[in-house]
Amino acid sequence: MSERIHLSKAEVTEVEEQFVLAALRSGWIAPLGPDVEAFEAEIADRVGVKHAVALASGTAALHLALLELGAGPGTCVVLPSMTFAASANAVVYTGAEPVFVDSRPSDGNVDPVLLLQAVDELRDEGRTVAAVMAVDLFGRAADYEAIEPALANRGIALIEDAAEALGARRGGKPAGSFGRCAALSFNGNKIMTTSGGGMLLGDDGPLIEHARTLATQAREPVPWYEHKEIGYNYRMSNILAALGRGQLRRLDHMIGRRRAIRQLYREGLGNLAGVRFLGDGADADACDNCWLTCVTVDRESYDLTADRLVASLNCHDVEVRHLWKPMHLQPVFGGARSFVTGASERLFSTGVTLPSGANLRDDQIARVIDLFQSALAR
Ligand SMILES: *Cc1c(COP(=O)(O)O)cnc(C)c1O
Repeated sequence: MSERIHLSKAEVTEVEEQFVLAALRSGWIAPLGPDVEAFEAEIADRVGVKHAVALASGTAALHLALLELGAGPGTCVVLPSMTFAASANAVVYTGAEPVFVDSRPSDGNVDPVLLLQAVDELRDEGRTVAAVMAVDLFGRAADYEAIEPALANRGIALIEDAAEALGARRGGKPAGSFGRCAALSFNGNKIMTTSGGGMLLGDDGPLIEHARTLATQAREPVPWYEHKEIGYNYRMSNILAALGRGQLRRLDHMIGRRRAIRQLYREGLGNLAGVRFLGDGADADACDNCWLTCVTVDRESYDLTADRLVASLNCHDVEVRHLWKPMHLQPVFGGARSFVTGASERLFSTGVTLPSGANLRDDQIARVIDLFQSALAR
């Protein structure tokens, strides 16, 4: 039978092989080295920010961002409910309390009005809001025109979780350049990968430099091992940074292919009544890196939930997945404070992500479209 069609598999070529081989042969194995510095500079340049520190994961980047902005016991951090658990876990690592805010229906990103309402209500109650974390969902930047100035007026720091959104833009500004600092992920399934890795970036030099110290076991710059703070072992290795440099050379190509795949899905599924592409609208593609194409299926038109769609395509070896299950519905965050409208729950029960990897061929996308249409027709 035909081979399994994956959701978002890493694509590596001779370009990456050459970077990694050169790093291995250079002798810079343990663990930092010149490729780390070069990778940081190249990503900072790409995103248009001044400073960056390469890390072991996107989760580590979020953890350090939160620590730098004073998240800790007795404070809370407001973030979207519809996100990957890592966004919320990082808040809990610091001892702060996560407070969840629902999505807007159009693209699943955080509802800016509800977000500000949550912040104001918490402050009226005398709570300390250490930061707001916005998430750029499935590769589409959050509504920073609405969020950034309103938080600045209130004196509240913004962290951008851009783990899914490298290459996306909003109002002409690249994802990863919003807020006081931003986190990227280079996990294997993201738009580009270092196998596992992440980066914290921003224009605030002292913030990024202090995060760099914390990430390097909080070692003081003296000849012996001197520590004034509790540190972490969070840096990226030189070999993986070399892989990232190779991937970055091909990022635009990989985004272009994912965009073309989105277009194939539009042509194949866009005319079906009751099928909607998440985030489709006026300037949809301009601000989207097309990481994962997500569609929702209207409950009125089809007697079909995301569950059944996921099951019916997976039994044909096509990896279709649920959207992120909202955090306020997760057992582990059961008691958490949430500002909920029902929008993310609806998206979760009716939405799926379609195979979107840059290495998928046109005939594989055609197969997904066929299977999707038959699942709807049943
Ligand atoms: C992937 C992801 C992370 C975590 O990144 P890792 O590199 O896997 O630790 C955080 N937030 C979001 C929204 C993500 O998609």
